[in-house]
Amino acid sequence: MRYKSTRNTDLRLEASQVIAQGISREGGLFVPEFLPGVGDKLAGWSGLGYQELAQEIFRLFLTDFSSEEIASCVEKAYRPEKFGGSPVRLRRFTASGACRLLELWHGPTCAFKDMALQVLPHFLTVSLEKTGQNREAVILAATSGDTGKAALEGFKDVPGTRVIVFYPQDGVSPMQKRQMATQEGKNVAVCAIDGNFDDAQAAVKRIFTDPAMNAALDKGGMMFSSANSINWGRLLPQIVYYFYAYFQLCGQDGLSLGEPMNVAVPTGNFGNILAAYYARSMGLPIKKFICASNANRVLTDFIRTGIYDRRREFFATSSPSMDILVSSNLERLLYALSGQDSAALAGWMEALAQNGWYDVGGEVREKVQDLFYGGFCDDAATARTVRDTWRVEGCLCDTHTAVALDVYRQYVEETGDGDTPTVIASTASPYKFAADVLGALEPAGGTDEFQNIARLEELSGTRAPAQLTALKDKPVRFQDTVAKDQASAYVLASLNLSGI
Ligand SMILES: *Cc1c(COP(=O)(O)O)cnc(C)c1O
Repeated sequence: MRYKSTRNTDLRLEASQVIAQGISREGGLFVPEFLPGVGDKLAGWSGLGYQELAQEIFRLFLTDFSSEEIASCVEKAYRPEKFGGSPVRLRRFTASGACRLLELWHGPTCAFKDMALQVLPHFLTVSLEKTGQNREAVILAATSGDTGKAALEGFKDVPGTRVIVFYPQDGVSPMQKRQMATQEGKNVAVCAIDGNFDDAQAAVKRIFTDPAMNAALDKGGMMFSSANSINWGRLLPQIVYYFYAYFQLCGQDGLSLGEPMNVAVPTGNFGNILAAYYARSMGLPIKKFICASNANRVLTDFIRTGIYDRRREFFATSSPSMDILVSSNLERLLYALSGQDSAALAGWMEALAQNGWYDVGGEVREKVQDLFYGGFCDDAATARTVRDTWRVEGCLCDTHTAVALDVYRQYVEETGDGDTPTVIASTASPYKFAADVLGALEPAGGTDEFQNIARLEELSGTRAPAQLTALKDKPVRFQDTVAKDQASAYVLASLNLSGI
């Protein structure tokens, strides 16, 4: 398996090269040159445990890794003690027959990002060895909250790596901020950006492609790499759980192999739902992708009109990990749906950068609409959904998951497709967003996160993850904030490269 870039199809790189490099030099995203068909393997795979299934899938894409290397990455990443058992769980809803929650947040940081970021550091270490890099890898990440913590936790004290995370000053939840500010590890740094997530992401992208920054790192014996979902090593692990969920549906719910399911995904940077699309391209029977947005409904509008337009007000919502106006991974979907037309992609992305919008035209739009349903849900509807899900189902869900549940409800209402088994990605623990979850259940929670957690435990009779309650007693290590044009200076300073 070789890899191309969405904006340069002449490339033919190995998996280790694209994982080490993160983003292609001309700004495009790395994509596998084809998606291996696995239709004939489904029956054989259906009984596998999570780790075995992950190995099977990784072997198809990481063809320059040995089987032993893949097995070792997987074993280190998905140890049961890290996830309190199986990494993912499919939860049955009692009241709504066809829908299941795919809980992806049982890892160390209580959000689904762990599914990829527990394994990426191991992919990266192997990749650096293979590409003969004796240099230290500097992982730069922009985060709307969950990626940052998951990257810090995944990379902390991994030899040969450093991690620097930027988050939007007022764009993350108090718990997310606390998780990052108290991060342990000798190779980590965390800094707030005076701006929103798109500002943080743009700053990081600029640093990655800035020749002067790259030269400075080179001199210092380092190189940049990325832990954002633009890195192929982030996306690949996410393909696994869609297969796994499908096999669970077959096992538990009597679905026959080959019968279709829908998936509904609370979407921000379009990584999670793209992994589901890749699973379908490999032969997993998925009928419809329900793409759920919050009030930042740029994807909903895109799916409905074929016009991607970021020129709009940005809202800070109760589902902050989806507060995004530029969904990077959409580029990979459009690359696939346009028949790998890298010239068109380069044009659209240039138009987005220059003018703030682009129109993919009728043909691609129809393909998008064929596969995707786009819907959105504002904060009031999110809170209502958290409350109803608790009252009706006895299930405490976080705000992001609630967005997906509400958009799924809209989908059923609009299309009448209430019978197709549907897997709804549940992306965070409700305790990670305790203030908003509690606020949905009873009037006015306080501002102290730990009191909110305690009250939520009392009210729901469930237990908060120990990783979150333990933060209360951890000292704050990071409290820097910089202007968005100062991010590169911060990077140089924290790497001790300012003089270079
Ligand atoms: C990151 C995140 C999302 C959005 O996922 P994308 O892959 O960026 O679309 C949704 N929910 C939670 C809790 C997240 O952390």
